[in-house]
Amino acid sequence: MATDQRGAPAEALRRRTVEASRRLGGDPFLVLHGGGNTSAKDHDFLWAKASGFDLGALTPEGLVQLRRADLERMLEGASLSDTEMMDGYAAATVEPGRPAPTIEALLHHALPFASVLHTHADAIVAITDTERGLDLVTELLGDEVVPVPYVMPGFDLAKVVPELWRGAGSSARAIVLQHHGLFTMGDTVDEALALHLELVERAEARIAALGRPIRAPFADTVSELRPGDSEQARTLLTELRRYSAGHVHALRCDDDEVRAFLARPDLERLTDLGPTTLEHVIRTKRVPLLGDDVAGYVAEYRRYFERNRGADEALVMLDPIPRVVLHPDLGLVAVGADAKAAGAVMDIYRHTIRVIEAAERLGGYRTVTEAQAFGLEYWELEQRRLR
Ligand SMILES: [Zn+2]
Repeated sequence: MATDQRGAPAEALRRRTVEASRRLGGDPFLVLHGGGNTSAKDHDFLWAKASGFDLGALTPEGLVQLRRADLERMLEGASLSDTEMMDGYAAATVEPGRPAPTIEALLHHALPFASVLHTHADAIVAITDTERGLDLVTELLGDEVVPVPYVMPGFDLAKVVPELWRGAGSSARAIVLQHHGLFTMGDTVDEALALHLELVERAEARIAALGRPIRAPFADTVSELRPGDSEQARTLLTELRRYSAGHVHALRCDDDEVRAFLARPDLERLTDLGPTTLEHVIRTKRVPLLGDDVAGYVAEYRRYFERNRGADEALVMLDPIPRVVLHPDLGLVAVGADAKAAGAVMDIYRHTIRVIEAAERLGGYRTVTEAQAFGLEYWELEQRRLR
């Protein structure tokens, strides 16, 4: 491994990491809107993707250099508060004033490979989002892949994953996190990248063999939802604006794929289970609105907030309106504060439909519990990503 922070080997490693990040991040079936992260390391330093940088457009400035001795100390205790973690990252950062690294920097540090690549690949997520998800990972991807039951990202994940990896015999170069995504590792970036693409391809081939492929272009069928479109459009937009604390921008998609999903007899059960990969919860909320009863959705969202907030009096409820509406006349409606936010919600939910349908064919869709989804939706460190 390279040892000099300014030396040519470290430089080449970082350059290749940026290239691999762009390769992964440029593929919407692997990474959507801020998902995924990458890193490179030598003995002394970790270069981790900065939080808030898109993988697909990563530049060398999007990698933050951290001192590994400082990161190692952060892992020593039994717990670490969010504030302690952010302070720890700031203290470990070599150049002051750089953006914070990904929340997963500690996990990247704890995996002893020069290159670590992480995505929320649709096909991998679909496999874990099933009744026998973790067994299926082994059956379909081989016992060289370590399956990890759901753990909240951050400190807990950084403690648990390396332990399970060592328990698996340390020869494994890939880790699949339930309801979350894939990590691959290598002594070189090319090794980690090749394994990443190979495992995703294997998962995609299995899903394609069961019927509909998960990787296929989406029809260009998204348009802005405007009050003048129809009576139903006007009513829905009026209701969303009535209950929203902020601006409302809505997009609509009503193609054959959306129609087929909306026509499923089990639509209510499937969409009530929650997001396909947990980080989507911060953009789509845990569940969509089925139909047009925005007031009913808002009332239920308040109950969800109350029953999950626990004793945390300081927690403030987010804007309670739905981000996804599955409407009998309008089709799939994606809601955000502006066109960009609504576009991200639209992309995520079109992928969500495919992942849910693939998981159904793989044995039955299952995902995080309500409490786990709430934990992430209201996790301070995730909320920062939207600001
Ligand atoms: Zn992730």
